[in-house]
Amino acid sequence: MSYDQIDVPEAGEKITLADEETGELNVPETPIIPIIYGDGIGSDVGPAAQKVLDAAAEATGRSIAWMRLYAGGSAREKYDENLPQETVDAIREHRVAIKGPLTTPVGSGFRSLNVALRKKLDLYANVRPTYHLEGVPSPVKNPSAMDMVTFRENTEDVYAGIEWEAGTDEVQQVKEFVEDEMGATGVIHDGPVGIGIKPITEFGSKRLIREAINYAIANGRPTVTLVHKGNIMKFTEGAFRDWGYELAEEEYGDNVLTEDELWEEHDGEQPEGTVVVQDRIADNMLQQILTRTDQYDVIATMNLNGDYMSDAAGAQIGGLGIAPGANYGHGRCLAEPVHGSAPKYAGENKVNPTAMILSGREMLDYLGWDDAAELVRDAVETTISEGNVTYDLHRQIEGGTKLATTEFAEAVVENIEQLS
Ligand code: NAD
Repeated sequence: MSYDQIDVPEAGEKITLADEETGELNVPETPIIPIIYGDGIGSDVGPAAQKVLDAAAEATGRSIAWMRLYAGGSAREKYDENLPQETVDAIREHRVAIKGPLTTPVGSGFRSLNVALRKKLDLYANVRPTYHLEGVPSPVKNPSAMDMVTFRENTEDVYAGIEWEAGTDEVQQVKEFVEDEMGATGVIHDGPVGIGIKPITEFGSKRLIREAINYAIANGRPTVTLVHKGNIMKFTEGAFRDWGYELAEEEYGDNVLTEDELWEEHDGEQPEGTVVVQDRIADNMLQQILTRTDQYDVIATMNLNGDYMSDAAGAQIGGLGIAPGANYGHGRCLAEPVHGSAPKYAGENKVNPTAMILSGREMLDYLGWDDAAELVRDAVETTISEGNVTYDLHRQIEGGTKLATTEFAEAVVENIEQLS
């Protein structure tokens, strides 16, 4: 494929699909990996993460051929549009990519480019690991109890973008349909109204929950918790929970147990190698992750719950400057930090690149470069434990050295060199 505005790196080869059914990849020694710096602080944390990932690849005998792509503000300058088709095509073609944050205006203006990218590439699982790194200050007493991976459904729910603005003919039509044809009278107040639709499908729920259970089995994690608000939203969030249990029963047999089965058949003693699937109501879960943190491993939930919950969990392990993430589809990965574009700090060489670096670590892991991935984690942890931190952590610790974004990345690179 030839591109108009994108420079294709001279060195490097494309990652290809090795197995259509499992989504397994062929990863060359020097893969071409697209990167979008993104808006706001994206151009601070993007290059910083690139340096660290280059060092980790080099230390493990590989290299990365970066391919710079554009979305958001940088794409408006180059292409006069927010999300050029070339950008989407290049990520689709190269399968594994990393991006920084993209700004979304609230209310009016364009819709979220992040949501659009996830939908266009069918990246149905947004996976957010939350684990504590030694030396990172936290508002809780025992932050190391947190070691959770949230699988957030990425394509459905109230994020699907099926909504109508107050005052339009469309919203009036939907209101009349709901009241006159579906009989839901006396529910919607008179006057201007905006209406959104919350689709939760069996297909979307099961493929997300399957990813979460497979991850738990592959990584020796004992539980998968389905988080929902099914007591109120019975036919959407309640259905998600029911489809989760149905999937566990249909596809995993004795390898996956419910909490009832665990007690009735095993007296509460979980057999080696099994996974227990349980469910919790979302509001209760938000307090459980604070009060019973160590009881939760892998979470599977819908789009909105997952967004709230992973930010709250992220706060317990050091906040948005630390929290990494990645979006997965079938044989595809687009890594991205949880945080947004924090416009007030843009270009100040000040913010913490750890979230972007650790998102890169998730990407390395997906490539099967486990040694490089571990090196990144260890080097970041060593750097922070030495008290070398950016402003966000520095103001919470005693002593320590306050580093700029670029200085922090250099310190991590030095530690990669020392540890390898
Ligand atoms: P934000 O994450 O951009 O910033 C909130 C606050 O968190 C910042 O003011 C800062 O104090 C702190 N913070 C964030 N990242 C940090 C870092 N790397 N180091 C240190 N501190 C950090 O959230 P927001 O202000 O709600 O959103 C700003 C814009 O980002 C909005 O347009 C929003 O839509 C967008 N956004 C994009 C993504 C994405 O691209 N995936 C995610 C969330 C928000």
